[in-house]
Amino acid sequence: MIVADKKRKSNSGRFKKGQTPWNKGKKLTKKQKEKFKRSEETKRKLSESKLGVKNPMFGKFPWNKGKKGIYTPTEETKKKLRGRKPWNKGKNHSEESKRKMSQSSKGQIAWNKGKTLVPLEEQRKKRLQYQKERRENKRDEIKKARDSKRHEIKFEVLSHYSKKLSNSRIPCCNCCGENQFLIFLTIDHIKSRKNYDKEPKNLVGKELYRYLQKNNFPRGYQVLCMNCNSAKSDGEFCPHQRRNR
Ligand SMILES: [Zn+2]
Ligand SMILES: [Zn+2]
Repeated sequence: MIVADKKRKSNSGRFKKGQTPWNKGKKLTKKQKEKFKRSEETKRKLSESKLGVKNPMFGKFPWNKGKKGIYTPTEETKKKLRGRKPWNKGKNHSEESKRKMSQSSKGQIAWNKGKTLVPLEEQRKKRLQYQKERRENKRDEIKKARDSKRHEIKFEVLSHYSKKLSNSRIPCCNCCGENQFLIFLTIDHIKSRKNYDKEPKNLVGKELYRYLQKNNFPRGYQVLCMNCNSAKSDGEFCPHQRRNR
C-alpha cells in the first residue's frame, strides 16, 4: 500500500491528459506580474553566473553526443517536415549573440590547442617504430618464459637423479658433489650410449631433460658436473675416483 501511495505522490505534479490545468483562464494581476519580472540587474547576474566554468554543463557532453538513431521520426512527422525550411535558414547570428557565444566558451580549451599537424611520413615512422619496439619487447617476454620453463625442467630432472646423494632437492655432482651452480651440472649416461636403445639417438641438453621427464626418469642416468663428465668420457674414471682407488 505504501508503494501505491508513493506512486501517486510522485505523479501528483504531472499534467495528465484531459485534466484542466490549475492556472487555465487565470490571469496574473499587475502586481503579480511585477513580482515575477526580473530586473535588468538580476538578469545580468544570472547570465554571468552561467559563463564558462561556472556553467553546470561546462566540459560536459550532451547525453546524445555521437549517438545515432535515438530519434526516429514516424512517417507522419516526416511528411510534415518535408518541404519545410529550417527555422534558422538564411539567418545569421547577430553581433550581440556572437559576442555572447564567444564569451560563454571563454576559459575552455580548444580541442586542437597546442597540437601541430604532424606530416604523414613522420606519423608513419613513429607508428613503425612503436610496432618494432612492441615486437622486441614481446620477443624478450617469450624468451624469458621459455628460459624459465627450461630451467624448471632441468632442475626437476637433476634434482630427481641426485636425490639419493644430496638427500634434498638441491642437485649435485655424483662424483665431486658440486652443487653451487646448476649450469655446471649435466646428465651423464652411466653406461655407454649404445646401451640405451629406448632413448632416441643423440639427445642432448633440453631435449634429453624433456625426454627423461616425460618418460618418468628411467634408470641408467646420473648427475655429473662438467669437469667430472668430461674426465669420465676421456678415460674410464674421473681423477677424483682414481685417487680413491
Ligand atoms: Zn664433479
Ligand atoms: Zn669427479
